Amino acid sequence: MIKSINPATLELLGEVEETPIDNLENIFKNSRIAQKEWQKVPLKKRARTIVTVNKIISEQSEEISQLISSEVGKPPSEAFVNEVYGAIDSTFHYYNRVHDYIGKEKKIPLGFYESLDKKSILLRKPVGVICVIGPYNYPFTIPFQQIVQSLMAGNSAIFKPSSETVLVGKKIQEIFDDINLPLNLVQTVFGSGSKLGNPLIDNANKVLFTGSTATGKHIMQRAARTLTEVTLELGGKSAMIVFPDANLDRAVKAVRWGIFTNSGQVCASVKRLYLHSSIYDAFLRDLVKATRQLKQDIPSKPNVDVGAMINEEQLNLVEEMVNTGRQEGAKVLIGGRINPNLKGYFYEPTIMEAQDNNLKIVQEEIFGPVLVVLKFNKEDQVIEMVNNNQYGLTSSVWTNDIQFGKKIAEEINTGSVMINEVVYTFALSSTPWGGTKNSGIGRSHGEIGFHEVTRPLHINIDQYDKPDLWWFPYDSDFDDIVENFKTIASSLVLKDSEN
Ligand code: NAD
Repeated sequence: MIKSINPATLELLGEVEETPIDNLENIFKNSRIAQKEWQKVPLKKRARTIVTVNKIISEQSEEISQLISSEVGKPPSEAFVNEVYGAIDSTFHYYNRVHDYIGKEKKIPLGFYESLDKKSILLRKPVGVICVIGPYNYPFTIPFQQIVQSLMAGNSAIFKPSSETVLVGKKIQEIFDDINLPLNLVQTVFGSGSKLGNPLIDNANKVLFTGSTATGKHIMQRAARTLTEVTLELGGKSAMIVFPDANLDRAVKAVRWGIFTNSGQVCASVKRLYLHSSIYDAFLRDLVKATRQLKQDIPSKPNVDVGAMINEEQLNLVEEMVNTGRQEGAKVLIGGRINPNLKGYFYEPTIMEAQDNNLKIVQEEIFGPVLVVLKFNKEDQVIEMVNNNQYGLTSSVWTNDIQFGKKIAEEINTGSVMINEVVYTFALSSTPWGGTKNSGIGRSHGEIGFHEVTRPLHINIDQYDKPDLWWFPYDSDFDDIVENFKTIASSLVLKDSEN
């Protein structure tokens, strides 16, 4: 049995049975049977069936938010806004837009070949069985959206939630069980990644993975054996740059939320803050003051801002990294310890000042409520500091000069750059989500996300009534044809005046 523990109170919430590895063969067999039937259902009808989950989620939104809160340790109001609302909003968006994204036949121009009565069209088809492997930090909205996209596109889904959040995983399965889907179209398996991971990767047509970079690399290595496709949404060390002309009041509140929401357990948390030297002292003073006002407590209590971390192991990892920072010479301005007043896994909101961009605490992901602050003078210098990192998920540029902000954004190597915003674009179901470098491969959400759960099918149609010019025999007529091709080729070169 896998036990579920409330990380804020350490109470046992419940338990679920582990899925025996031997069951996986049947699970995949049944998934393939369900998928074959489901892909025949017209796209509009599939979308209409899936969007009915919204009624169920809306009716149970309170209960689901409480469940997420108790299993992850975040306030229920935060769980509602960031997870439950997120799932509903994205499902409705996909229901409205999926036909535009993947339902339309696209004609592909063929140039010269069209004169020979040939044409090409592009369709998008389901890939088959998609395995969704979820993280613990957003255990509802992340896998939910991936399952919705997979199903609308005509795939079946096998879902493995994190072992830390099995009850939320079970809830997701119940929601899909409550709508009118073919039997076994969505199946949830429970167990550790080390046991279930390899057979899932070996047998799926595609893996949508969200989690740490280390696990993502393992998945990609394993997937190479079977050439199973992968989308990897991995770790981050997002940076926020504040220029002196920015709205500093808003920027202080943004970074406070951007690092401490969900106890800093967000892939896109603002982990690195780069402040221009002219505003450095005043901004930090305001930020520390604002951070002191945050209320950390058991998240079921009223008006709690910051709850608990997921487990003791993660709590200790954060403590270790903060101590490493101290040894590296970084100064703790606030926090810097496990909360001594609470018995659950609470780490105090922490701000550290670092003098050197190469410190371990600046370079590595600390998956907890720890902000590292650095000073800069010039824009080239700060771009270099931001880019000098193994991760590339998101970044954030603060300035009132939007043209200047865009210029900086284009030089930053991350999947998304927000100008005067932090973190929230994950909630946008229409815009691509994903990272560069060690933050992953591929994109979720929107049209590009749908491309990841479909395969392009190119159909070439020929209505030429004679043999093609390039077919045998290679006789004297063929020599003339070659000359014609040479003439055409010479017309496909830019004239000197066009260079
Ligand atoms: P994790 O890598 O420990 O676990 C994620 C999932 O992978 C879990 O379901 C786990 O059981 C499974 N897993 C573990 N070993 C496996 C294996 N060998 N084969 C297959 N599956 C395996 O990550 P986590 O601690 O749950 O999540 C935190 C990490 O996720 C952070 O690094 C965070 O930045 C990242 N994250 C990224 C995004 C994003 O969109 N880029 C979103 C959320 C979290």
